[in-house]
Amino acid sequence: MNTKEVMDNYDKYVMHTYGRQPIVLDHGHGVKVYDKDGNEYLDFFAGIAVNNVGQTNEKVVEAIKNQAEKMIHTSNIYYNEPAAILAEKLANKSHFTKTFFSNSGAEANEAAIKLARKATGKGEIITALQSFHGRTMLTVTATGQDQFSAPFKPLPPGFKHVPYNDLKAMEDAISDDTAAIMLEVVQGEGGVNVANQDYMNGIQKLCDDNNILLIIDEVQTGVGRCGSFFAHDLFGIKPDIVSLAKGLGGGVPIGATLATEEVASAFVPGDHGSTFGGNPLAAAAADAAIDVIDEKNLSQNAKEMGVYLKDKLNTLKDKYDFVSDVRGLGLLVGIELTMEGGSIVDKMREKGVLINCTAGNVLRIAPALIITKEDIDVMVEKLDEVFSEI
Ligand code: PLP
Repeated sequence: MNTKEVMDNYDKYVMHTYGRQPIVLDHGHGVKVYDKDGNEYLDFFAGIAVNNVGQTNEKVVEAIKNQAEKMIHTSNIYYNEPAAILAEKLANKSHFTKTFFSNSGAEANEAAIKLARKATGKGEIITALQSFHGRTMLTVTATGQDQFSAPFKPLPPGFKHVPYNDLKAMEDAISDDTAAIMLEVVQGEGGVNVANQDYMNGIQKLCDDNNILLIIDEVQTGVGRCGSFFAHDLFGIKPDIVSLAKGLGGGVPIGATLATEEVASAFVPGDHGSTFGGNPLAAAAADAAIDVIDEKNLSQNAKEMGVYLKDKLNTLKDKYDFVSDVRGLGLLVGIELTMEGGSIVDKMREKGVLINCTAGNVLRIAPALIITKEDIDVMVEKLDEVFSEI
């Protein structure tokens, strides 16, 4: 198929749930991707913060190939070795002892919400405005952005939304029926809003004092992206439940809900499940992706490159008055503009750099964690060119 035929097929046969960029991505390696017409792009969005180890990482590819030749799928009726290894790796990296495996971020959060309700016997989950937790009915209701849930009423009950980084609002929202507070430490989709340290300390204390579970949604921030394997560790907090997905499988779909022993013990056989969750192929890919992150010290690279990137972007902020803020953590960075950012994403693509715009006016940068200073220099140079044409 050529580019036009692929796009025509999407138009005809795929539901129109995305405003897509008009290119057909065909292959890639590292931080470079190529479309069907042979154009090369420097990828600063990494499949929405997924390809943390870059495209076609050798170790991940080898692990997938080896596992595919042995066994692609079994089920959770039986044990499989890659999932056993993965669960141990995640436990060794955290204070959590148990994982439930699923296939996506929304599912990881869905499990987190079910687990919190079962563990506490309470119903209410408090989340933040501008948060994003997924597209299933529970997680879209947890999401603190009406536009995603309003068309799908009636919504499941039991959710409250309060302003982010506002401890008093959270305190006021707590009731006798509050099971959990669920937050991102950086709101990725909501505009790359970073939590204040004082806020996170206060949230931890509120949870401890009121016997409320703390769920941190690390679907976008986790797996090294923010400069530590778990971004919540950067804040020194100890959540009861954490969800992971995006970067975990080296590009292969997988979700994980991690919990402390006490909380996890609320789930008993029959409470929750997934046909594909913990599938050996996805788990083998995740095992390899985690090894790559550890061996190449990619969390540390994310930290250092994040600082370098923000410094460079701040020079653009000084130069262009329509750049109102540069913020982020590690390699999850937002450039807030005083205008809509969609056309800038298009112009950057035409110059061979893929970025994203979220919340209407925030350019979101989330490259693979293997990104180098040289790559960042190219991206910032192109952004400078695009900005100068405005
Ligand atoms: N939670 C957060 C913080 C996210 O950023 C996303 C997706 O962008 C999700 C949950 C949903 O993940 P998925 O699209 O894999 O269901």
